[in-house]
Amino acid sequence: MVLQTFWEQEFKCPICGKVFHSVRVFSDAIKIKERDSDLKPTYDGVNVMLFQPVTCPECFYTAFENDFEISFSQRQKEMLVKLCEKLKSMLSINLSKDRNLKDGVSIFTITAAVYTILEKHLRAAEAYLKLAWIFRDLKNHDEEAKALSSALKHFMESYTKEELSNDQQVMVLFYLGELNARLSNKKEAVRWFSTLIQKFGNNNSVYVKLARKEWQEVTMRK
Ligand SMILES: [Zn+2]
Repeated sequence: MVLQTFWEQEFKCPICGKVFHSVRVFSDAIKIKERDSDLKPTYDGVNVMLFQPVTCPECFYTAFENDFEISFSQRQKEMLVKLCEKLKSMLSINLSKDRNLKDGVSIFTITAAVYTILEKHLRAAEAYLKLAWIFRDLKNHDEEAKALSSALKHFMESYTKEELSNDQQVMVLFYLGELNARLSNKKEAVRWFSTLIQKFGNNNSVYVKLARKEWQEVTMRK
């Protein structure tokens, strides 16, 4: 039996009203070969990350699957319409199953801009982090650093302004440490890793384990 990789799910765009099918990846088809210290996965086979946001093929509105069909205020909707019009005139994206890393850059650039407008900082941070990971695969270190610092900014906003569950706080504190470490802000990295371990040291999460390791490495770094 040949295992299938892709399927199609129907969505209705909350911006332009278009009903369309988006390519999704079967969870059985996801194979992670390894992870970097910030948990960036390297996949064996299809790069699932490129399929995580859903993009309307008509107007390019893009969001993560779970909140694609959310409702907005009138003002947010007007801002999103303007954003999509502008991006649509600048970008061309292959939304088929053959999308590549360059398409991924466009997809996550729109995703990050959408969540920035919606002031959903945790989601914006996640979108910028994944944009940075795509630039890492493209070996574009300058753009990777830019995206990491945007992710850091939104993780900080999220930590100070958003109501987060304990699990979300653990993740956000980890990334405040890890992204500062990657951006060579050693003092800040140590500060956030130690906050994470002080507050959630008993937590079994992979983030806490990684933070202990990264904290040591950062402290030893000259
Ligand atoms: Zn649309």
